[in-house]
Amino acid sequence: MTDLFWDSLCKEHGGLSHAVVHEASHAVVAIHLGVSFVDVSVNSDPWNHRFDETRVIGGGVRLTSIEDFERRVREDPLSSLQFCLAGALGERAAFAHSLDRSYELDVNLWRTLAGLREEQTMETIERALGVPIAELTASTNAILKARSSSLVALAQLLGESADLSLTFNEVAEIVTHHG
Ligand SMILES: [Zn+2]
Repeated sequence: MTDLFWDSLCKEHGGLSHAVVHEASHAVVAIHLGVSFVDVSVNSDPWNHRFDETRVIGGGVRLTSIEDFERRVREDPLSSLQFCLAGALGERAAFAHSLDRSYELDVNLWRTLAGLREEQTMETIERALGVPIAELTASTNAILKARSSSLVALAQLLGESADLSLTFNEVAEIVTHHG
């Protein structure tokens, strides 16, 4: 059942591979930017982690304090959006595509925390940021590239961990070791 769910998301790579790279990318960029979190995990059985009736939660970085992150979104919108974009961009770097809605859901999270109530378009986001989204994408990709050996090691460990979960300290240790 679990494998069926994940495999249905990407028959070529397996959805679980996408989820592991997605969450590992958020975690590596979080460490890079100094965003603290409790742990990073992938849900092996997403149907038991429902967001609502139609959407399931594939995993996530559990932030230490959502209030701290909200403050960061207001005070440093660029780096907080880099953190949010990292998941889908990491998938695209690894697999040349990201899972359906993988990008939009993370941008929506940032938009909600940033208090943007206008219709969602890239224009309204760019106006709030003051820089083109392409520039932000490029700088986020540059972080992922600079941290690629950490990212590969982290994705592998996360995928092999018994409960598909790593603590902040475990992630920090990998990034310290691999650069
Ligand atoms: Zn794929």
